Amino acid sequence: PSEEYELLRRRIFSNTKELWYYANSELQSLEKEADNGDRIAKIRKNIGEHYMSLLKDVTNLAEIDGHSQWRQQESENLSNLVQKRLKHLQNPFDCAKARKLVCDLNKGCGYGCQLHHVVYCFIVAYATERTLILRSKGWRYSKGGWQDVFLPLSDTCLLPNGETTNRWPGHRNTQVITLPIIDSINPRPPFLPLALPEDLAPRLNILHGDPVVWWIGQFLKYMLRPQPATSNKLNEYAKKVNFQKPIVGVHIRRTDKVGTEAAFHKLDEYMIHVEEYYKYKELSDKVDKKRVYLATDEPKLFSEAKRKYPEYEIIGDEDISKTASISKRYSDQSLSGIITDIHFLSLSDYLVCTFSSQVCRVAYEIMNSLHPDASTMYTSLDDIYYYGGQKRRLHTAVLPHRANGPHEINLQVGDDIAIAGNHWDGYSKGTNLRTKESGLYPTFKVSPKIETARFASYPDVTL
Ligand code: GDP
Repeated sequence: PSEEYELLRRRIFSNTKELWYYANSELQSLEKEADNGDRIAKIRKNIGEHYMSLLKDVTNLAEIDGHSQWRQQESENLSNLVQKRLKHLQNPFDCAKARKLVCDLNKGCGYGCQLHHVVYCFIVAYATERTLILRSKGWRYSKGGWQDVFLPLSDTCLLPNGETTNRWPGHRNTQVITLPIIDSINPRPPFLPLALPEDLAPRLNILHGDPVVWWIGQFLKYMLRPQPATSNKLNEYAKKVNFQKPIVGVHIRRTDKVGTEAAFHKLDEYMIHVEEYYKYKELSDKVDKKRVYLATDEPKLFSEAKRKYPEYEIIGDEDISKTASISKRYSDQSLSGIITDIHFLSLSDYLVCTFSSQVCRVAYEIMNSLHPDASTMYTSLDDIYYYGGQKRRLHTAVLPHRANGPHEINLQVGDDIAIAGNHWDGYSKGTNLRTKESGLYPTFKVSPKIETARFASYPDVTL
């Protein structure tokens, strides 16, 4: 398929959703106010059926005429290329002379946050063609370090020594450069997320609905190659809980996150989307059993889910969630729990979670390394996808908009808007970079904009 075709198809898909978000949210509030609430509820239900049917048809459009096979092949080719470049980068011919970038695993935060920290280091390493040296001894999750659970990032080069060492940015000929966390990198290079490498961006933009997620997923794919003991544990666990498809992954982040970095959401708010997924699925397949893989740091949710949703098989582990509390969090046991939860969330057919949590974003990124394009296989109850420390995410207006009231903004075709969020009611919030106005605008009047930067392009590494 051509780029034009794929962008248009994806636009129809996402605007079908936006139309539903709009109608659903408006009708829901009418239902509560109006005398004829029952009639409105019925209309809302019928529109819901129209919506599902449209969504299914556009989804099928992505599959037919060999497009699905093409996407599979293109994704494999691109992934093989990136993985080969990473392997080449990480296994220099002579480690003693190699240019290196040194990064500390132990950022003072949770596992998801630390993985994102390593991905950021790895992206800088890739862009500047330096071997990434990960310092991980004394890791708060496992004292022995990264290699307690994952394969080392290199077979040949793990030591940070060199003739000259400097803090970022150093010089091209400084042998070893040490990197601070993304929040304090200065100067900020242009290749940080959400930027895509110039040489791959045109292909990624045809392949994927949110190419930067695919890009991040490739770094995780390389990093998270498990040690044999880790993969044995995951396989045994899959057998123990009888992990089977169809299954929807639900991540519910509570405890220390609620009220500080995220709002509280009831179990039912997640389950509405799980129900919707299965209704959608039943349009084309017979669903024998509705399953949920539940991951959470709130142990009480397991009994609540089983009590309130008896028609579901709830897979997951209360014992694991007990290792997630802040007092137990930084231990080997907790590490094995979070690795397990993220693994099975990413293997699910669909994800329902809050993108404010790095656990949920990591699972989604890994999911996108397992499918050619899993950019539509999720519902986030709060944020749109972002990368911590990113510069911005842009929309470009493709239809003009006249503000209806003071909380909306005007758009001219071609305007760039820095997105603050999607309100999942047909509107997004953002700042028009031309007028500097901030406020709401209808999401269907814009398209996502991809930003690119120059990265090292590895001309010697070919498939
Ligand atoms: P965030 O705080 O949710 O953005 O994610 P982080 O990964 O940075 O920190 C949260 C930490 O809490 C995780 O790394 C885990 O150690 C623990 N945690 C949170 N949610 C879960 C969960 O669903 N399962 C398990 N096993 N641990 C969790």
